[in-house]
Amino acid sequence: MSNRSLRSLPASTLLLAAIACAPAIGTLSTATHADSTLIRRDIEFLASDRLEGRLAGTPGNDSAAAYLARRYRSLGLTELVPGYLQPFDALSAQDAHAGRTAPRPTQNVVALLRGRDPALRQEYVVIGAHFDHLGRSPTFALDPEAGDAIRNGADDNASGTAAVVDLARMLVANPPRRSVIFVNFSAEELGVLGSSWFVNHPPVPLDRIALMINFDMVGRLRNDKLIVYGTSTATELKGILDSANAAAGNAALHVAGSGDGYGPSDQSSFYAKDIPVLHFFTDLHDDYHRATDDADKINAGGEARVVDLALRVARSVADRPSRLTFVRIAPPARTAVSEEGKQTYLGTIPDMGASETKGLRLTGVRAGSPADLGGLKTGDVIVELGGAAVKDLYSYSDALYSHKPGDVVKIVVMRGSERVELTVTLGRRGG
Ligand SMILES: [Zn+2]
Repeated sequence: MSNRSLRSLPASTLLLAAIACAPAIGTLSTATHADSTLIRRDIEFLASDRLEGRLAGTPGNDSAAAYLARRYRSLGLTELVPGYLQPFDALSAQDAHAGRTAPRPTQNVVALLRGRDPALRQEYVVIGAHFDHLGRSPTFALDPEAGDAIRNGADDNASGTAAVVDLARMLVANPPRRSVIFVNFSAEELGVLGSSWFVNHPPVPLDRIALMINFDMVGRLRNDKLIVYGTSTATELKGILDSANAAAGNAALHVAGSGDGYGPSDQSSFYAKDIPVLHFFTDLHDDYHRATDDADKINAGGEARVVDLALRVARSVADRPSRLTFVRIAPPARTAVSEEGKQTYLGTIPDMGASETKGLRLTGVRAGSPADLGGLKTGDVIVELGGAAVKDLYSYSDALYSHKPGDVVKIVVMRGSERVELTVTLGRRGG
């Protein structure tokens, strides 16, 4: 376990972070509303080619960590860990599968805002987002054909990282009763390794954490539609979210709140430790996990509205007299998937917010993909795949991955009120 702190980072990394940091301090005065200018500035720095996509264990990732530590220092936040850095070694299942044994030394960035109420400041709201991305690696990319192109991950997840920093700026100006821990996780793309390291090496007792709020992809708000996962992880959360949204009046968002605390991001590590969680998300898009996920596509004004909503939720939980009532929901039963199965590709873009829909609603299909060639269309709701009923994203992926590339399957969709049967030849991921 290498001992890493700000002092051990190379001078060039520190210089890079210092240059990018300085202008932020002067804006403390406007701390009641999210600041889209600061949000965009953070995203443009984090998603700049200089950081080469911030893959865990790379200089670009270290530079991003140094930048964030400087932001928290300039806001006057407390070092809960030395130099705001919680170092760990990341080694993913895919690494091991590929025969890699050398771990990737990296770090989470952690900062504390002490609560103003002596009776409640020993309890915490955790506000987090992963700051790592794919770097130049095609391993988890949806455009392996782009080879070692830089995947800047502006939406995934420079946007969430900027949201955490802007919330820190606003909460510092008016601390709530409970304390707040701001965390930027590394190695999320390698399997939520940073958040699982954090909950297994917690700087505060886990049973003191009242709520974890996660931001992963909040930079591409469209049609005011915001997805919030985890609203069933505590009995009071749905009500708190709805009233926080209603407080925005005409600027209220179309919030699709749903479900449990599992799912492919860092909140799942906290939910597994019996902590209520929320995950803010503005849905998938064509650039997800591609070299085209760049800062010029970010809707900073839209993100500011998401951050304003999250601020009201965070304050409501951090100031309330009693703790939330945690609810344990059984994880969805999943069927084991073969290595060959994992290669099966269809090319749909699921609507991650349509949890009320019976089936899987499509936000789109990728041009030229098996789904496109097979006749699937935006708006279709898949209800059957290869004879298996599709109720939601889980049953859809189980059905898809139970097949292999080249299989010819019948897919049944509801197109409006019409039932349409399609014959599709499944493809190979990256093929
Ligand atoms: Zn992400």
